[in-house]
Amino acid sequence: MSLQSFFNPKSVAIVGASRQKGKVGYEILTNMIAGGYEGKIFPVNRKADSIEGLTCYRDLASIGETPELVIIIVPAKFVSGLMEECAKAGVRSVIIITAGFKEVGAEGKRLEEEVARIARRTGIRFIGPNCLGLIAPSHKLNASFGGDLPTPGTIGYISQSGALLAAILDLANANGIGFSNLVSIGNKADIDELDIIQAFGSQEETRVIAGYLESITDGNAFVHEAEQISYKKPILLMKSGGTEAGAKAASSHTGSLAGGEVAYESAFKRAGVIRCNSIEQQFDFAQAFANQPLPKGPSVAVITNAGGPGIMAADAIEGEGLTFAKMSEDTTKKLAENLPPAANIHNPIDVLGDALADRYECALDVVLDDPNVDSAIVLLTPQAMTQAKETAEAVVRIAKKKTKPVLACFLGAKKVEAGLDVLRQGNVPQYDSPESAVVTLKAMVDHVRWRNRPKRVVRLFSVNRRKAESIVERHLRQGLLEIGEAEAKEIIEAYGFATPKGSIATTADQAANIAHQLGYPVVLKIWSPDILHKSDVGGVKVGLKTEQEVKDAFDLMMYRIPKKLPEAHILGVLVQEMVRTSGKEVILGMHRDPHFGPLMMFGMGGIMVEVLKDVSFYLAPLTAEEAKQMLVNTKTYHILKGVRGQEGVDLEAIAEGLQRLSQLVTEFPEIKEMDINPYVVGAPGTTAIAVDARITVEKK
Ligand code: ADP
Ligand code: MG
Repeated sequence: MSLQSFFNPKSVAIVGASRQKGKVGYEILTNMIAGGYEGKIFPVNRKADSIEGLTCYRDLASIGETPELVIIIVPAKFVSGLMEECAKAGVRSVIIITAGFKEVGAEGKRLEEEVARIARRTGIRFIGPNCLGLIAPSHKLNASFGGDLPTPGTIGYISQSGALLAAILDLANANGIGFSNLVSIGNKADIDELDIIQAFGSQEETRVIAGYLESITDGNAFVHEAEQISYKKPILLMKSGGTEAGAKAASSHTGSLAGGEVAYESAFKRAGVIRCNSIEQQFDFAQAFANQPLPKGPSVAVITNAGGPGIMAADAIEGEGLTFAKMSEDTTKKLAENLPPAANIHNPIDVLGDALADRYECALDVVLDDPNVDSAIVLLTPQAMTQAKETAEAVVRIAKKKTKPVLACFLGAKKVEAGLDVLRQGNVPQYDSPESAVVTLKAMVDHVRWRNRPKRVVRLFSVNRRKAESIVERHLRQGLLEIGEAEAKEIIEAYGFATPKGSIATTADQAANIAHQLGYPVVLKIWSPDILHKSDVGGVKVGLKTEQEVKDAFDLMMYRIPKKLPEAHILGVLVQEMVRTSGKEVILGMHRDPHFGPLMMFGMGGIMVEVLKDVSFYLAPLTAEEAKQMLVNTKTYHILKGVRGQEGVDLEAIAEGLQRLSQLVTEFPEIKEMDINPYVVGAPGTTAIAVDARITVEKK
């Protein structure tokens, strides 16, 4: 169902409209009237005949026609009854402003569920409860108590916090920022963030989707839909309140390093959602995306009338990983012809402190024509001769003619005020500092890169799924939720991983026999379903070179570990071939996030992984590019690539390992978390080996 009735209704009933100043029912009614809403308004209130000059109705039935949108402001305990009344009157769209639901406790939660049930049964869609309402400036609809109607614009805003929306509205109104719509979704008992984002996605009037979220109802649907919409319209989100619940309960390395925050971060990356760290930054980004074309590349030109800010911009460009544009000869020649001899004709172009508007106009015009330039930042400081207003007019004029983004940074306050008005009218975004302009350009460049990334193709490896399935199923059947090293390795072998040879010994003699067959040196590892991290309890002994060493190590383990862990069920000792590569130890892992599903991890491995915390995450299923990107996103990457004459390792093998693991966890939703740690990788061309693995399963 389209939500258009919410944004552009022909008539609105306000149930709980009030004559009393300061009451929400009064504020909403007067906001509706003050906004100049052109449809019909029906205040509903049992006790009044008229409010603010409008006829008041006793109930919905007595209106005599069906309002397209109903706003409910009555106390929580009456809302269910009213929903039934709405259904009888044929109402399809409702905004429930009323608070006192899920957010206040069990009784409120029960009421909210009841309201949602009635809505589902009767086909009503509703926003809220516990929200601030909805604003659609282009339809002069202010169905909220958030503040004055802002000017119409192209930003669609969605907020899970009513209070924050009120602040944003105030700030936007003070700065003349326009919106297509603003929606406060409150407890989102029916319509949630995704419904609104989808509605914005298909609205002509919305070019940029922005919002503040605390949680996402359906992680998978969100990633999938937001990804589609991001190709057409940028989605800029602030997100707070990461859920750490998942991390606390984890027993794997990956689980303890992956909090809810990481999952959100990965989901946003995957869906192309641009994350904003503050309201200011969100406005900075939104204005550029809404009003300027997207840059084709990372090359930035800077035009300034003072050296200092030019250097600040240059530093920021470098710091953000953008390119400081190198002008073509043609450009420097034209600039030399048109600017005074003392001017700097190379980036940052310094038109000098006495520059009037004409120098800016000429410089910007020439620079934007340069094929080496993808975007421009115009810096201005108010000096004695500076024409802030005229310069702004010139900037607007040129920006309109070109197809490259132009961002302004007029520094100062009173002296540049007239210029700022002109920039705003002319849709050239203005920034408080060179840095914030650069950070905005960086967000635009990244977004373009995201849009142009290769189509996602997930490679499917041929594997022995049956084998893995039988082990997983047996564990689940027996209620064994931790799959230890020996069997975890059988599972990953079925998915194409190489592992060291080895078998289980229950006596010292047996251990020596196995060692003899494997060839020395060997490794001994304690085998117990109750011991997750073997080294921690002295359960790993590497580099055993003789029969005697093996026997001694066996006896020592069998003596010491039961003393340390009397409860642990010890099945024996794993005698394993010693992996002798000069390789590096990395970790490949997965933690299943409750909202977004399998979250893959890569990082520097071995026993120090949780100390170093040099890890990166991405949602499965992984493409080859995403797997490689996971490597690049860690510091370990530089070591793995080879530093200071050291030979690098087989990066492809790691990326392939991540993809194989991604396939395993995608095909087995029963796998809750797992680590391959260490995964030992050697020089390119050598086989990477999964030296240790552990898997936690759960019933699905
Ligand atoms: P855990 O993680 O349970 O403590 P591991 O099997 O990962 O036990 O062993 C700990 C460390 O011992 C590994 O990080 C690795 O450095 C070393 N190690 C274990 N098995 C081998 C092996 N087969 N060959 C070489 N080194 C090994
Ligand atoms: Mg390990």
